[in-house]
Amino acid sequence: MSVASPAAPQVLESSLLDGVPARAQREDHEAWAEQASRVGHCHRPVKLVGQTHTIDRATGVILTTLDSNVLPDGVLYVKCGNRRATACPPCSREYGADMWHLLRAGAAGGEKGVPTSIVTHPMVFATLTAPSFGPVHALKRPGCTTRRCRPRSRRERCPHGVNLSCMATHQPGDAVIGQPFCVECYDYEAHVVWQWWAPELWRRFTIALPRVIANQLHVTQKMARRIVRVSFAKVGEYQQRGVIHFHAIIRLDGPADDLDPFRPR
Ligand SMILES: [Zn+2]
Ligand SMILES: [Zn+2]
Ligand SMILES: [Zn+2]
Repeated sequence: MSVASPAAPQVLESSLLDGVPARAQREDHEAWAEQASRVGHCHRPVKLVGQTHTIDRATGVILTTLDSNVLPDGVLYVKCGNRRATACPPCSREYGADMWHLLRAGAAGGEKGVPTSIVTHPMVFATLTAPSFGPVHALKRPGCTTRRCRPRSRRERCPHGVNLSCMATHQPGDAVIGQPFCVECYDYEAHVVWQWWAPELWRRFTIALPRVIANQLHVTQKMARRIVRVSFAKVGEYQQRGVIHFHAIIRLDGPADDLDPFRPR
């Protein structure tokens, strides 16, 4: 789960840098800066052209109209909302912060109308990962038994003769991280199939778990729902090898608990 972190200073490409003085000198610079700020300085805002009306629901009367023609560059910016930091750092940070508060409320209570008594509920923080599709170079985090990538004492080789041991301590940003040792051996097909089915696998999991609980309680699912409710929250992330995995908080609530902060709002 990514948590909001301070924005790292970024170096602008020279082509963009050239445009800065020109933009700053324009008459509509202030309005433009206001627009950019309103979309959280999104890196790839969607540019809309046309009109938006605010309509009184009861009477159908148009209260205000915004025409993109009057805006700088003649466009209305809307944030891209991309969750990936590589696509848009500001939007992904905002999503991370929102997600953090949602998960925090669901796990600890004390915000979003969730009582702190929620901490007494049975709760599991699970990480659901894909199986191995073949060895890949890894960035080992502090706390791992070794920081070396894949140390093997005996020289292990794949059928293509590739050495499957790597004694390197890879650094963040190292291009080899997540790359297979042998592209011939790595099961790319299974990797792609996993990506495609990961959301469906999660959906099936949310269906299967209440069934398992009912089974354990020796009651029907309908009866089990009257005794216990399962609340889920999950965040999908890419591992270094580019495979989706899920971090999930799974909480059990009683029948009288009328709360579910995990539902997106
Ligand atoms: Zn964005
Ligand atoms: Zn390595
Ligand atoms: Zn191989």
